[in-house]
Amino acid sequence: MPLTGIEIFKLLPKTNCGECRVPTCLAFAMNLAAGKAELAACPYVSEEAKAKLEEAAAPPIRPVTIGVGDRALKVGGETVMFRHEKRFENPPGFAIVISDAMEEAEINSRLERFRQLQYERVGLTLRPELVAVRDDSGDVSKFESLVNKVKQNNQCSIILMSSNPDILAAGLKVCADQKPLIYAATKDNLERLADLAKANSCPVAVKASSLEELGQLTTKLTEAGVKDIVLDSGARTVRQALEDQVIIRSAALNKKFRPLGFPTIVFPGEMTDDPMKEAVIASVFVAKYGGIIVLSDFQGESLFPLLVERLNIYTDPQRPLATTEGIYEIGGPGENSPVLITSNFSLTYFIVSGEIEASKVPSYLLVKDTEGLSVMTSWAAGKFVADTIAPFVKKCGIGDMVKHHKLVIPGYAAAERGGLEEELPSWEILVGPREGAHIPAYLRTWKA
Ligand code: SF4
Repeated sequence: MPLTGIEIFKLLPKTNCGECRVPTCLAFAMNLAAGKAELAACPYVSEEAKAKLEEAAAPPIRPVTIGVGDRALKVGGETVMFRHEKRFENPPGFAIVISDAMEEAEINSRLERFRQLQYERVGLTLRPELVAVRDDSGDVSKFESLVNKVKQNNQCSIILMSSNPDILAAGLKVCADQKPLIYAATKDNLERLADLAKANSCPVAVKASSLEELGQLTTKLTEAGVKDIVLDSGARTVRQALEDQVIIRSAALNKKFRPLGFPTIVFPGEMTDDPMKEAVIASVFVAKYGGIIVLSDFQGESLFPLLVERLNIYTDPQRPLATTEGIYEIGGPGENSPVLITSNFSLTYFIVSGEIEASKVPSYLLVKDTEGLSVMTSWAAGKFVADTIAPFVKKCGIGDMVKHHKLVIPGYAAAERGGLEEELPSWEILVGPREGAHIPAYLRTWKA
């Protein structure tokens, strides 16, 4: 059982030094008990106390990693019911089903779609992560060869799906080094799948017909030494599945009920035959609270909105997306190319750089660190003003890269022109457009 805040407090040094960024040990203990703080934040906890606090400090929903390397997917580790309370930690993974009963052409086309359907947005690559290899044929060699093909052809994490432990064991022989998710342990095969998971150090999904049974099965798996577990409540209607997701999250976070403290897997493709409805159902589980969302197929028109929804929900509401401060070269600029400056709010950067690219006028874009605030907001907050822009322009080295010394500032920061002329006496300060859309027309009239 997890410790209460008072029990944790008794194990802390009680010096109230504040180094954990809360004023007292009691407040820190309460945060730990609520899963809102990391034990590592207190440097003075004794080893003995650490061991005792391990359970209390563990996230109420265990993080589980599927796959290896750069493309490994980490799910779980959530600490809040609602994003605005803090943030959601690990975005759900999207999986496409490929069955060993499919024709070769269909298998190839699904693998190709998996590779092709990825998108660049705000400096990030949005893409699905998993291929769910499903045994429908009952043929060990067919399953093995499909697992091998998926492993060879794709940079993806793998889910091995079968109700037959022998077939899963054959799949594991091919790809255990990729740490696939084994799907699924049930009351009928629990011991065998626990052995497979332990022998191959792979996570295992557990499927039940009710939440009560699910809790019993995860308890048995945990007692058998399996730690990385993913939950399938077995519900295949939208209403029941959504209800289960909410109850699982709430039980883990609010009741500290460890048997349900794991990420979940959901199957929107098994809740409808209509591909558009499937996408809508999947979007529900992106918000609440799917860990892995298995789709019957991928189509760009439905996958892209899901990836964008996931991006929106899993960004930290307390930290704006920011671009790194520096000089960005757009279109291969030279010593006579325009020099523009903007803030490092990602959206601003991508709008401005996109418009410069559209103008076909090679340019330098200086991106000033404004803590992720837009030009107007950072200007109002005193972060995009002459006193902060001038030192950045001097130190970034742009003065040595262009013959002219003309700096184009955003129209919304026009009031800084005078201050910049004083701070940067060797530069001519030009006021550019207020709106990004007017940048191409402005740049086409540029003369060094
Ligand atoms: S850092 Fe440790 S000792 Fe200091 S106030 Fe926080 S919990 Fe107490």
